Amino acid sequence: SDMATPVLHGLVMPTAIATKSSRKVAVIGAGAAGLVAARELRREGHNVVVFERSDRVGGTWVYDANVESDPMGLHPSRAIIHSSLYDSLRTNLPRQVMGFLDFPFVVRDGKDRDPRRFPGHREVLLYLEDFARHFELTGLIRFDTEVFHIGLVEEGKWILRSRKRTRTDTDAQDDLWIEAGEIYDAVVVCNGHYTEPRIAEIPGVETWPGKQMHSHNYRIPEPFRDQVVVLIGSSASAVDISMDIAVVAKEVHISSRSATPGEIGKLAGYDNMWLHSMVERAQEDGTVAFQDGSFAHVDVILHCTGYRYHFPFLEMRNILSVDDNRVGPLYKHIFPPSLAPWLSFIGLPFMVVPFPLFELQSRWVAGILSGRFTLPSEEEMMEDVKDFYSKIESAGWPKRYTHKMGDSQFVYNDWLATQCGCSGIEEWKIQMYHANRKNRVDRPKTYRDVWDDEHLILQADEYFRQYSN
Ligand code: FAD
Repeated sequence: SDMATPVLHGLVMPTAIATKSSRKVAVIGAGAAGLVAARELRREGHNVVVFERSDRVGGTWVYDANVESDPMGLHPSRAIIHSSLYDSLRTNLPRQVMGFLDFPFVVRDGKDRDPRRFPGHREVLLYLEDFARHFELTGLIRFDTEVFHIGLVEEGKWILRSRKRTRTDTDAQDDLWIEAGEIYDAVVVCNGHYTEPRIAEIPGVETWPGKQMHSHNYRIPEPFRDQVVVLIGSSASAVDISMDIAVVAKEVHISSRSATPGEIGKLAGYDNMWLHSMVERAQEDGTVAFQDGSFAHVDVILHCTGYRYHFPFLEMRNILSVDDNRVGPLYKHIFPPSLAPWLSFIGLPFMVVPFPLFELQSRWVAGILSGRFTLPSEEEMMEDVKDFYSKIESAGWPKRYTHKMGDSQFVYNDWLATQCGCSGIEEWKIQMYHANRKNRVDRPKTYRDVWDDEHLILQADEYFRQYSN
């Protein structure tokens, strides 16, 4: 037909491009995931609108010195602070590994720039702003606009309801909100998952007289001066925060599910830090007892127990659920099979190198939406999901490990890259990732400043030279 080979200014357009469909796509969030999703979707020829609740890009990397009114971050009517960053935070990945695939996180000149290999959090925000500027993404973003409802409408399209804040110069109470509803072909959810706290259940805590908080609301060590603190958890932020607090606190007691009997006791290199097993109970007299038989008289319990996936705006209609932190069913952590490809999630995997993984996920989603790549049938996708879930079960893992990747992230990235016909993560990067993991174990206090993989840094510099100018 005429449609198949349109003639433009006398040139015959290649049919493959002419027939590639362009969709109207809504992206929720302008953090790292939303930014790279917007770039990939636009590159693929889609019509993209990004909704961002705050007034700038960067998501998690926008440090906010304020904390929520409920220190546990649980009260449903609290004003939500998005970011969980603490003041002292430096990246836990070397910048050479952390950056997007084709926009390296290299040292930049400028008075506010942080040239360190593991820079402070502000440098990451500046990098994401550079990314948005370089790819001219800002014009796609509607700032101060919160999505509060997404539902399926008759024709298989989405209705997306949002409200835009019109800031008043007085205080936030007076902000005006203007609501709008619009129809989209596809929705890509990039709302982040480090804002809604998960809390450890502690028997007896209701009558325990001390104070509790979640690491989501931790910013600086000063409030813990001379306090006795129990810190629950052993993740990256638990480790950072315990060292931060130990400088001012009277005692820090870390309670870890994974502590082995040999590790329990006073920690080498500190005169006020102890490792314990899990908390057994908290008591009315102010003590906290651990399962290993030890106990302490405690002022504060700090829950560094992670976060929950949370999609309050999504009308799920029994199609999708969050069960013990498993978002499912999802094909390859991205598409609910019965709604594919019209609903997708970028950025759910954790214990990964996030930015490149977001980039590959986004490229795949963009190409599926345009029809350049194809998905298996709904039944085949459901089979794949079921196989994956039974593997998790037979490994004896809880559901909440569904999106935890670690070493398997590289297989996953390779799979996505193959689907997209592009190259995956460079071999030197994978080696550097492993070298850093080992260094973190060997030098938990100093791994950000002392390392043994100088040869890989040279390789990275060489590799990044292709991107300069
Ligand atoms: P986010 O950055 O959280 O962005 C989500 C965006 O969506 C936000 O801007 C938010 O305002 C917006 N939004 C949410 N809901 C709505 C709505 N309803 N309507 C409109 N907008 C909405 N990664 C690394 O690579 N290196 C590190 O060293 C590292 N350290 C970390 C340390 C901490 C303490 C934490 C919490 C995370 C760390 N991460 C690190 C992981 C980090 O989460 C990712 O790097 C990345 O920021 C995730 O991006 P995202 O876009 O998925 O989510």
